[in-house]
Amino acid sequence: MTLESSECGPAAYGADKDKPSMSDEYAKRRKLYEAISLRTGLAWPYIAAIDQYERTMSQAHPKTRPIRKDAVTGVYVSEERWRGDLNPTEEDTNPASIRFFRGIGQDGSGDKVADRSKDEDLLYSVTVQALQYGSAEDDFTIGLWEYYHNTRAVQRVMQFAKLYRHFDRLDLNGHAFPLPLKSTYSYRSTWGNKRGWGGRRIHEGTDIFAGYGVPVRSTCYGVIEIKGWNAYGGWRIGIRDLNNLYHYYAHLSGFDKNIKTGDIVSPGQVIGWVGSSGYGRPGTQGKFPPHLHYGIYRDRGLVEWAFDPYPLLRRWENEEYKAVKGKR
Ligand SMILES: [Zn+2]
Repeated sequence: MTLESSECGPAAYGADKDKPSMSDEYAKRRKLYEAISLRTGLAWPYIAAIDQYERTMSQAHPKTRPIRKDAVTGVYVSEERWRGDLNPTEEDTNPASIRFFRGIGQDGSGDKVADRSKDEDLLYSVTVQALQYGSAEDDFTIGLWEYYHNTRAVQRVMQFAKLYRHFDRLDLNGHAFPLPLKSTYSYRSTWGNKRGWGGRRIHEGTDIFAGYGVPVRSTCYGVIEIKGWNAYGGWRIGIRDLNNLYHYYAHLSGFDKNIKTGDIVSPGQVIGWVGSSGYGRPGTQGKFPPHLHYGIYRDRGLVEWAFDPYPLLRRWENEEYKAVKGKR
């Protein structure tokens, strides 16, 4: 694990371990989105959101959605879907015959060729699908649903678009440790340990022990997806980030009163306080010592899988320490 990159990183909480070329990558993407926006009339944050959703699906399914070398877009369209199921011409690039066979492939670059290995053509084709009922928000969401047949996909694209629109940039990868570093806390790797309550469950997360009332902060740029009571997690908040990860904060004693579902948060922003709520009816607390249960789930399209957040917590903690030291 190298941590060098954070010391001179621009973000207050330490830049991600992105390679130095990541800003070039974002510039290329932004240029592509602006070009598709010009051709379709759709504002770039929505195009960026479709692209990013597609990218997270490709990352979750690398075998069935291979990523082209040097690809700028994250869009993947299968050959059959591109050319049309009944189209006898494999690798068809003729927009007219593809249209005839109801394929979705179109020419987005202006060279009259619908090329499935070209960024402009791929992203343009999917954007056109999303716009088939119109560009008003309701019509756009219907178009997305018609393309993905998955309500989660629609929700993701709209969440991502909200983030891009709000910040007006693509680089939203900064992170923070969930508790203030100056507070007293302790945590260790407990992935997969058996749970005592609610039947046979394994522990999907990391418990960070701290006193009642210690602030709990968002670890990422994201959208509040869920806020309220849950029998296991007590008062809990779920935040969706642009990597399509769901960050779950449980057993809180309360929420920041300004935070509601659909709101946008930044790394380090206080969302609630450490408590011991949960394991019963709404309001139940004190059945275990106060701690933050922090979990991360990856949306894989139709299901979400938890993964061990412990290594990321260590990394964000270290990056933040270094960033703070660098400022003195
Ligand atoms: Zn826990």
